[in-house]
Amino acid sequence: MNFDLTMEQNMIVDTVREFVENELYPLEEEVERTGFVAPEVGQSIREKVIELGFYAPNMPEEYGGGGLNDFDFTLLERELGRASMALGVFWGRPSNILLACNDEQKEKYLLPTIRGEKYDALAMTEPDAGSDVRGMKCMARKDGDDWIINGTKHFISHADIADFIILFAATGEEQTAHGTKKRITAFLVDVGTPGLEVRKGYDSVSHRGYHNCTLNFDDCRVPSSQILGEEGKGFDTANTWLNGTRLTVAATCVGRARRAFDHALEFSATRKQFGQPIGKFQGVSFKLADMITEIDAADMLTLSAAWKLTQEQDSDRAIAQAKLYASEMLARVTDEAIQIHGGMGLMNELPLERLWRDARVERIWDGTSEIQRHIISRGLLRPLGA
Ligand SMILES: Cc1cc2nc3c(=O)[nH]c(=O)nc-3n(C[C@H](O)[C@H](O)[C@H](O)COP(=O)(O)OP(=O)(O)OC[C@H]3O[C@@H](n4cnc5c(N)ncnc54)[C@H](O)[C@@H]3O)c2cc1C
Repeated sequence: MNFDLTMEQNMIVDTVREFVENELYPLEEEVERTGFVAPEVGQSIREKVIELGFYAPNMPEEYGGGGLNDFDFTLLERELGRASMALGVFWGRPSNILLACNDEQKEKYLLPTIRGEKYDALAMTEPDAGSDVRGMKCMARKDGDDWIINGTKHFISHADIADFIILFAATGEEQTAHGTKKRITAFLVDVGTPGLEVRKGYDSVSHRGYHNCTLNFDDCRVPSSQILGEEGKGFDTANTWLNGTRLTVAATCVGRARRAFDHALEFSATRKQFGQPIGKFQGVSFKLADMITEIDAADMLTLSAAWKLTQEQDSDRAIAQAKLYASEMLARVTDEAIQIHGGMGLMNELPLERLWRDARVERIWDGTSEIQRHIISRGLLRPLGA
């Protein structure tokens, strides 16, 4: 592993950083104040990113995407993660699972999503099925060549701006070596399909302006042609294409932690108390030392997992370790950055209180810290037959 960046990789980092600082940072205050991104602002971000040639960077070039491999995409996410997620979402990164589309679905969903004409949202979680996704109750029942969907999904990110939902629903049961299990199938469901209601979700402490929604399916009828992948193979499709999603969380956490750290470092050097910069006090300087050590460690874990993924090596444990450590590191670093700023750290003149609030969700979504620890320990114990 050599993490010296090539000229092209440095160009990706510099371009995204510049865009984030010049185009997104100035919009953050209003998003936080209003909890909302005006559609024309979202559209303008989308257009600028398309013009930059960086829209859908994770999608293959043959479909009009940026064609970045997992490592380079991780570098991009690390920079983009510095900015408010409510704004960053308009830098379209379609879900990789759309690469499972058949030819007809590619025309209707994949390609418009890559062109920035459509948005996707992904719905697995339910009120009674979070970490235990296989326990889902949302059911699709076959009726002729159609499927009739009933159930509720909640916490579904940015479904309020989505044109279609990648929905996971149970389509029956099957016997497995581990007992009876639900057959899970992925469907593409257009927003506006009769029987699908997209409702405002909960107000969250993290990521104001980046909304979660509740989806109600009430006898929502979709044809079999809307199945993504194969019937009953929804988790196989997800496992094939969604591996890297947790890695983007880790990358985001690293980028955001560096932003908080930069503020803390600058303040430590310029804020004077007792006649000297506060950074001269060991109580402050040791905090800085610990913060940067943790950030660099999280960065290394993230890049090494990204490298493994790019090399198509088994990367489940590495990704879980990166997600676990980076999300917990972000909580500690943003907390210490506030501590170093004293009272000003809590005021919304600085982005620190927001970064601290936003950090909280990173330990929960895309698999909680406990679930990451489960994946890590399973990876250690399974080869020993335990
Ligand atoms: C803001 C937000 C946006 C989200 N966006 C999406 C989205 O777009 N699409 C989507 O499908 N989902 C989304 N989610 C759902 C997210 O992935 C779940 O919240 C997460 O997987 C945890 O599920 P849960 O909240 O139901 O908690 P639960 O699964 O009920 O867990 C509760 C607690 O029990 C612990 N726990 C559960 N099982 C175990 C175990 N086996 N071992 C040890 N501890 C365990 C958990 O770690 C946690 O501490 C979002 C969530 C949030 C908060």
